[in-house]
Amino acid sequence: MALASNIVVLTGGVGGAKLASGLLDVAPAERLTFIVNTGDDFWHLGLRICPDLDTTMYTLAGLVEPTQGWGLRDDSTVTLDALQANYGLEPWFKLGDKDLATHLLRGEMLRRGDSLTDISARLSRELGIGARLLPMCDAEMPTIVETDEYGELGFQEYFVKQRWQPAVKSIHNRGAAAAGVSDAVKSALTAADIVLFAPSNPWLSVAPILAVPGMRDLLAALDLPKVAVTPIIGGDAVKGPTAKIMRELGLQVTATTIVEYYHGVINGFVDDVRNDLCQFDGLRATRLDTLMQDQNDKRALAEAILNWIAEWRS
Ligand code: GDP
Repeated sequence: MALASNIVVLTGGVGGAKLASGLLDVAPAERLTFIVNTGDDFWHLGLRICPDLDTTMYTLAGLVEPTQGWGLRDDSTVTLDALQANYGLEPWFKLGDKDLATHLLRGEMLRRGDSLTDISARLSRELGIGARLLPMCDAEMPTIVETDEYGELGFQEYFVKQRWQPAVKSIHNRGAAAAGVSDAVKSALTAADIVLFAPSNPWLSVAPILAVPGMRDLLAALDLPKVAVTPIIGGDAVKGPTAKIMRELGLQVTATTIVEYYHGVINGFVDDVRNDLCQFDGLRATRLDTLMQDQNDKRALAEAILNWIAEWRS
């Protein structure tokens, strides 16, 4: 039953792409839609960089560099090296030579007036992806991180340049008031049978998606399984700043905090076997091994989640 469902996944970057890759192994690609965070996007060297869209796209196309989980496999950095050697530009944001092709084409299409939704559809079609890849919206909605040390930082300055070391006071998305849910996102959610929240960073990767005006109401109104997967295992994040940010925001680093954060937009939760099971009124929860270290783990988790949801719906 679950295999014939339309599955919509809200996702960020590397953490979310692991689940995306598992889902692709167990569900028909044409039934999968990924709504991807674009709060990380920025203009750099005249290029429009969309890190989470590209991580998801390269993963789904089987082209991602496996050692880091982002960028293109076997890429080189001749262009960035030349920028540094010839012009002294510090290459703080890594861009591979083959990866540049994506940014060049996307920038050109944006300047021609194409929407990010249409561009993402074209790029993924050309890369042979059967699943649907949708940016959370077409407007620019950059994530701004308010820090103790530096005041407001653009997302990539915080995450890459400062290696997420500054203490976070708050996070918001600039330009949200002028943004809206695209027709493509609206119709994907309207046709959904299951909505999954990937185990992405709730504050940095999923919050921007939920901040698109209209998105929360749309999700809240859906009467179907809306299931988040915990990014917290055994009191810590698997990778990245999720746990650090939670502590800085005065929150407990537990799966319960994640469930509370998603209050109103989820009705199901996949906790990890290493955590105490979260129990809330009106919330269905299960515990699975959510640590995805290899492709078998990714496939097994995706399958277990879909089986659990199928039982619940039957
Ligand atoms: P990233 O910042 O580019 O890695 O992108 P995401 O926001 O998509 O993912 C970050 C989150 O993924 C972190 O909170 C991690 O704890 C979580 N994560 C990464 N790998 C795994 C995993 O194998 N299992 C679970 N449950 N969470 C994971």
